[in-house]
Amino acid sequence: MSLFRKTRKKLHGILLDHPEDGAERCATCDASCCRGFPSVELTEQEYDKLQQLGAVRLEFTLNGHFYLLIENGCEFLAGNRCGIYEDRPSICRRFTCYDDSE
Ligand code: SF4
Repeated sequence: MSLFRKTRKKLHGILLDHPEDGAERCATCDASCCRGFPSVELTEQEYDKLQQLGAVRLEFTLNGHFYLLIENGCEFLAGNRCGIYEDRPSICRRFTCYDDSE
């Protein structure tokens, strides 16, 4: 057993104004964002789409908010990759993070 703990990466997240996709987007990510939050807010259309895709951890509130619960990891994670990448919610498309530990 090591006497030294591994230094955790310090990730900072940003919610972009618009989604940014590209070949490199998410390619080297360890899916911290898909494990590090309690939920992702959805539009009603996204809620319906995820329901069609088989989501079971969906929630809606009486005042009109829709969520995909991702606490302890999103159910759509396949390893460290999003298993519904092309259909992922807008907030997932807009979220990006960078390593600030260097
Ligand atoms: S839908 Fe995809 S990108 Fe969004 S939290 Fe789940 S695994 Fe991550």
